[in-house]
Amino acid sequence: MPVECGLKESAPQPAPLPAPEQPRRIPLCAPELSGNEAHYLNEAIASGWVSYLGPFVDRFEASLKNYLGSAHALAVASGTAALHLALRVAGVRAGDEVLVSTMTFIAPANAISYLGAHPLFVDCEARYAQIDVARIVEFLERDCVRRDGQTVNRQTGRRVSAILPVHVLGHPVDMDPLLAVAAKHALPVIEDATEALGARYRGRAVGTLGDIGCFSFNGNKLITAGGGGMLVTENAAFAQRARHLSTQAKTDPIEYTHDEVGYNYRLTNIQAAVGLAQAERLAEFVAAKRAIAARYAGGLQSVPGVSVMTEAPWAESAFWMYTITLDPARFGLDRRQLHQRLSGQGIDTRPLWQPLHCSKAHAGAACLGGKAAERLYETSLSLPCSVGLQPSDQDRVMAAVAGICPA
Ligand SMILES: *Cc1c(COP(=O)(O)O)cnc(C)c1O
Repeated sequence: MPVECGLKESAPQPAPLPAPEQPRRIPLCAPELSGNEAHYLNEAIASGWVSYLGPFVDRFEASLKNYLGSAHALAVASGTAALHLALRVAGVRAGDEVLVSTMTFIAPANAISYLGAHPLFVDCEARYAQIDVARIVEFLERDCVRRDGQTVNRQTGRRVSAILPVHVLGHPVDMDPLLAVAAKHALPVIEDATEALGARYRGRAVGTLGDIGCFSFNGNKLITAGGGGMLVTENAAFAQRARHLSTQAKTDPIEYTHDEVGYNYRLTNIQAAVGLAQAERLAEFVAAKRAIAARYAGGLQSVPGVSVMTEAPWAESAFWMYTITLDPARFGLDRRQLHQRLSGQGIDTRPLWQPLHCSKAHAGAACLGGKAAERLYETSLSLPCSVGLQPSDQDRVMAAVAGICPA
C-alpha cells in the first residue's frame, strides 16, 4: 500500500523585490493580547507561583472545561505533548498503526512516531479539506481483520490501535460516521482539535466528541498562552493517567519515587495566566473569525478562479485559518505566484502543509489515497485572518487579490 507521492519538491523561489514605498505589513495570524494578559502575568509573578503548580493553571483548566462542557481537562506544555499523552493513555504501543490525516500540520504524526507506532495516513475530502471518513470506513471494513478482539491490517499484519482525525483550519471533521466505525472496531478516537477550538459539530463542541480531545495554545492558535496545550476527556481513568504521566509519573512528592517512565509536560502558572486571559475572550474571538470569513467569502467569491471557504452542513467552523483555493487557468496565477505578489504588497500569506505522505519525516508510511491532499497543497493559500484584523486591512487584502486577477 505504500503510495507514490505525486508532488515534486518545488525549487526555492527568489525573494520578492521590495516595493518602493512599503505599506504596513498585514500579518497572517497575529495574537490579540489586549485583555487581562499583562495583569494576570504580573499577578502570577508577584505570587511567586511561576512553575507548574499555581492558581492560574487550575483556573485555566476550569475555564476550558466550562467552555467545552467536558468532565476533565489537563493543561500541558504544548499541543504536541497533549497528543503524545493522549495516544499513550489510549493504549497505542510500539509497532501499532494509527489512522491520521495526511493534510495537516505534522505534530500528530510525530506524536504517533514518538511511541514507536506507525502513522497510516488518510487523504482528505476535496471540499472542506478534512479527513476522508469514507476511506477510513472502507479500510477498516475491507482491508482489516478482527483477531483476538483486535483490528489487524491484513497487508502489514500490524494492529490498528486508534484513529486520530485532525479538524484542520478550524472546520470540524464529519464525526458521526467516524465514531460509528470506531465503535464497531473498538478503536479509541483522539481528536486533534488544536486548530478548531470554538468549532461545533452538529451543535457539539469539537474536541469532546471522541475519547480524548487535544488543544494547542501556540502563538498563532485561536487563543495563546505563548505556548501550551490542553487534553480534555470524559474518561476519569484517562485523565488521571495523563496527569500522572505529565509529571514524570511521580508517586510520592517527598520521596520522589516513580512507577513508570513519564514526561515533564505540565503547563506553567506563568503561561496559564496568559491563557486564562485569552480564554475569557474566546467567544469574542470566534465571532471575529467568523465575521472575517463571511467578509472574505462575500468579497472574493466573484473573483474568477478563486474558491472561497465554506462550511459543511454539519459544521459551525471556527475559521481559524482562512484559506482560498485557486484555479490557476482562470485566476491567471498559481498560489506560489500569488503568495509572492501579495508579499510584495506587504501582505503575508501561507500555503497549506505539504501532505505528510510526501514528507521526508515520514518517508515510507502508507496513505489511503492522497491525491486530493496533493491537489489542495498545490492550489491553496491562507490569507491574513488575525482576530484583530481591521476591515480596512481586509479590504486591502481583497483588493490585492482581485486586482491581481487579470480577468
Ligand atoms: C498547532 C498544531 C498542533 C500542536 O502544536 P503545538 O505547537 O505543539 O502546540 C498539533 N496539531 C495541529 C494540526 C496543529 O495545527
